[in-house]
Amino acid sequence: MEPERIFKKAESGRPLNREELKTLLTLEKEDDVSRLLEEAYRVKLAAVGKKVYFRGIIEFSNICEKNCLYCGIRRDNGSVERYELPEEAVLAAAEFASSRNYGSVVIQAGERSDEGFVSTVEKLLKKIKKASSGKLGITLSLGEQSEEAYRRWFEAGAHRYLLRIETSSRELYKRLHPKDHSFDGRRKCLELLKSCGYQVGTGVMIRLPFQTYDDLAGDLLFFREADVAMIGMGPYLPSGNTPFGKLTEKDFPISEDPCSLAIKMIAVARVFLRDVNIASTTALQALNPKGREMGLKAGANIIMPNITETRFRPSYQLYDNKPSVDENAVECVKRLEEAIAAVGEEIGYGEWGDSPHFGKKK
Ligand code: SAH
Ligand code: SF4
Repeated sequence: MEPERIFKKAESGRPLNREELKTLLTLEKEDDVSRLLEEAYRVKLAAVGKKVYFRGIIEFSNICEKNCLYCGIRRDNGSVERYELPEEAVLAAAEFASSRNYGSVVIQAGERSDEGFVSTVEKLLKKIKKASSGKLGITLSLGEQSEEAYRRWFEAGAHRYLLRIETSSRELYKRLHPKDHSFDGRRKCLELLKSCGYQVGTGVMIRLPFQTYDDLAGDLLFFREADVAMIGMGPYLPSGNTPFGKLTEKDFPISEDPCSLAIKMIAVARVFLRDVNIASTTALQALNPKGREMGLKAGANIIMPNITETRFRPSYQLYDNKPSVDENAVECVKRLEEAIAAVGEEIGYGEWGDSPHFGKKK
């Protein structure tokens, strides 16, 4: 089907099928890609508006029990200096976010499931809530946990949770993870999170080793089926000290440049899913200094500036050449604000910025 007919179909409220999604993802000609981005931007304005919401990201700890084959802070990477932020550093970052009038923060870390970790996070949540008089929204991105942990954290004040499925293809998932990691377990967590009352976000990595366009179309179908409020996707980027860091070009069935493909994926997600929140991620910026702004022009409406104290950042390298490692948060945000104004958008200061999709479900 022609792109224009696919856009019309999406506009009429009928869900796109795998072939149609693939058609959009594989558009190559410059004119066709521009038209896709233009349509995605139009849908964004109509469905979620022109406001960009900031979520300040706090990289709480790089200690991880897991061993994802692609990730720079995986358990078996012995060259990483491990840390957990002291409480004061987390509270200071949250205070920074409040003082800059950000609607919310994201607390992200490697995965740990011991009681010590669960209760540390619980206490932090309560303190952040109290310090901001309940105003600051809190998103967690702490991996797979028990239902009890998810509940305790929700009751302590977290209201959103990001857990990427990484890929919706069960076969590909197996190739990206060691045997003790489970696709079904991860998917189950998304359900648990929803039943606890969280606004749930998921996402995938784009242009992974062994990944095809068909897998990516499947990912978009998965997002719709999982009925999530937010999507966070970014290009896969190699990390030297991992098993995947040793792969070569021949292990990548998709030859397209990862930045352009990630931008297209955002655009197709916007055209297909309409009213969800979509993040323009740091990994995009790692490939192109203007990557995050390009994401906004392709339909994304969320940006997650890093507000972790700079001295800890070099140790939180999920992939090589992660940006903003040595600039402090104030400078980082100033540049972002200018860039957002330059693309004609405004920042939704002081608002949680829940997706209209979540509002409708409620
Ligand atoms: N441990 C938690 C949160 C931290 S990892 C979790 O795994 O959910 C956050 C995200 O970083 C992961 O979901 C993954 O999609 C992304 N990530 C990890 N390694 C990456 C790499 N090499 N390139 C791009 N993204 C990566
Ligand atoms: Fe740990 Fe998350 Fe990295 Fe997997 S992606 S190794 S769970 S930090």
